[in-house]
Amino acid sequence: MSKLKGVSVLAALAALAVIAIFQFKPDSTVQARSPKTLLIGMDGVQLQRYEQLGSNLNLQRLHYNKAYAGGVTGSSSRQSTISGPGWTTLLSGVWANKHDVISNQTNLRVNPEFPSLFRRVRDASPSAYIASIVHWAPINTAFLLEDVKSNDLVETQASDARVIARTLEVLSQTRADFTFIQLDEPDQAGHDACFGAGYNNALRVADNQLGQLLDAVEARARENPDEDWLVLVTTDHGRDTQGCGHGGDSEQEKTAFIASNKPLNAELTSPSPPAENPGPNDLYGFTNQAAVAPTVLRHMGITLPTSWRLDGTPLLGETGVRKARADQATARLLWNSQESGEVVIEKNGQRVAQVKADVQQWVDPQGMNDKADYTLTLNGTPAAVRIAGQARPHLVGAGLPRDGCISSTHQAAPDSSPACQW
Ligand SMILES: [Zn+2]
Repeated sequence: MSKLKGVSVLAALAALAVIAIFQFKPDSTVQARSPKTLLIGMDGVQLQRYEQLGSNLNLQRLHYNKAYAGGVTGSSSRQSTISGPGWTTLLSGVWANKHDVISNQTNLRVNPEFPSLFRRVRDASPSAYIASIVHWAPINTAFLLEDVKSNDLVETQASDARVIARTLEVLSQTRADFTFIQLDEPDQAGHDACFGAGYNNALRVADNQLGQLLDAVEARARENPDEDWLVLVTTDHGRDTQGCGHGGDSEQEKTAFIASNKPLNAELTSPSPPAENPGPNDLYGFTNQAAVAPTVLRHMGITLPTSWRLDGTPLLGETGVRKARADQATARLLWNSQESGEVVIEKNGQRVAQVKADVQQWVDPQGMNDKADYTLTLNGTPAAVRIAGQARPHLVGAGLPRDGCISSTHQAAPDSSPACQW
């Protein structure tokens, strides 16, 4: 072989190698990876108690921070720190003054104007594999009954261990595009015996189960580099001082958390308390449980239209304005932002103003006496505020169970128990 021929053969081989690299390793900027989400709910977990278990927690494999549950006390977003309103907010991205699940009554249904992630993801992706695997039945059998009908999998399991076993099957055997699971035993342990050894043990078990799921997702992601996995972990409410119950507006009951396998934006990492109402120990500076749904939607590649009136700020990508809120007495919309852009304000679907973001307020010249929905959009990211709105519960059936209390898989406590506020 002549020297010249050898060089040209080498050049051809090099060219082939380049082609092969481009064929087998597509540039991620050219070909988007397919988004997958696993949303893990742990019922009734008090973050401080969880952290006190030690430094070797699976929780610490994740990025996480405090979040508040139950809306803002004294505003129209306020809701009870119990499971029905909490899970419905986490899954819909709006407070109970929109989703209308104001208690744990099993004849309440989510307001179809503000559907859950199950319906949002299904509408955007008819072929997506969607699963809801819960221990506490009413999520699937009551509040979101209509929304889960188009799921590929809807299961209520008799124990957290069975929820985990089914979830591991979904992760190993299906496309698993959007999977929601709910573990209930930490909450049951609190109701059974308040804070103490039993509660700590339940938290430890839940953390070990979290570790199993993280291992499974990490293994799958390694084997499928074309998949882009978001894992979020959260709770629906904190607990009262003794840990036995919840439902009220105390700092401890309103303290929840959001954890993620991906780094999240400033709304999670850098608290920004509302100046005029920072909440107990600046709790309202943290993110809140309405942020979970828009975060999942954004990860799944679904844009957030203002018409959806989502109350939460997404924790991935641009935050938009933060802490959007209204002061009805002075007819002002308020928000936190140091951005240089402009906020587009809509009222009941009509554009009413455009304001520099760093002005951080706008006065509605028509006042704020009537029910109204505002959206504030900055950098393609909307945040909504409802004023003066009363929930109008969507009830089915005639007989109403006792308010705030249902019969369920929690067999340890009868409906008549005063602690019956899951
Ligand atoms: Zn709960």
